[in-house]
Amino acid sequence: MKQLLSIIVVLIIVSLGKISASFAIQVDEGFTEIVSEHFRARFLTSSDRELARRALDRAEYLYKRVARDIGYSRYDGYWTWEKRAGIILFPDQISFSRFTGQPAWSVGYASRESIFFHNKTIVSFSGQANFFDEVLPHELTHLMFWDYFDRHIASVPVWFEEGVAQLEETGKRGIAKDALRPVVQSGKHIQFRVLGNLRPSELNQDAQVGIYYAESLSIIVFLVEKYGQEAFYQLIKELRGGQSFEKALTRSYGGIFKSMDDLEGRWVRYILDE
Ligand SMILES: [Zn+2]
Repeated sequence: MKQLLSIIVVLIIVSLGKISASFAIQVDEGFTEIVSEHFRARFLTSSDRELARRALDRAEYLYKRVARDIGYSRYDGYWTWEKRAGIILFPDQISFSRFTGQPAWSVGYASRESIFFHNKTIVSFSGQANFFDEVLPHELTHLMFWDYFDRHIASVPVWFEEGVAQLEETGKRGIAKDALRPVVQSGKHIQFRVLGNLRPSELNQDAQVGIYYAESLSIIVFLVEKYGQEAFYQLIKELRGGQSFEKALTRSYGGIFKSMDDLEGRWVRYILDE
């Protein structure tokens, strides 16, 4: 019944043209829901209505941008109607942590293992200064990755996914290279063959986690900025076909990288500006 109501209200909005993508219906557990073309946002307190509306607008913009960056564009329209992706906003971090079971330092929640992933849902909370520029683009990229790679997501290295998710965060792209230069100079970066099998949750030192994320982002920036978008699309296409990362890399950058070691060697020279 609720779905039917949603469809009717959306039909009315669509037929009226571009008045507003948002409307409100009451949903279970005290949440209010508003929707846009590809997303539904739920919030608990009326003071978060404006946050939810802005989250929908921002998510729509990011959806198109991430789609363009990973070559997902031809799937535009897929996340519509009952397939919309969800954004759940809690009023504070305590209720967020209670709901997700996530530790207090966690700011957004999308994980390959979680039930939220299977429901294409981002869970976050109100009052985060970095929500629109960091949390939302990062978590949304994860959801789009999982949707796009589907059953082959398991063969996509976690660092690759984390690198692209960070690439979508505002203003992050430019900082990784400088941060990594002293790390590479002192031989302390994570070797690519090790990186390929690592998950950030397996690292127990903050410094290592920092290097893991910076390196992940930096490799993506290196690939996109040095060798262009088309080769990167090809790499994603190969991964989507279920190829191992190294095979996908050599197929899409055939004349440039013949192995992971080649990629690492060139990336090291790029970081050191040689
Ligand atoms: Zn992430």
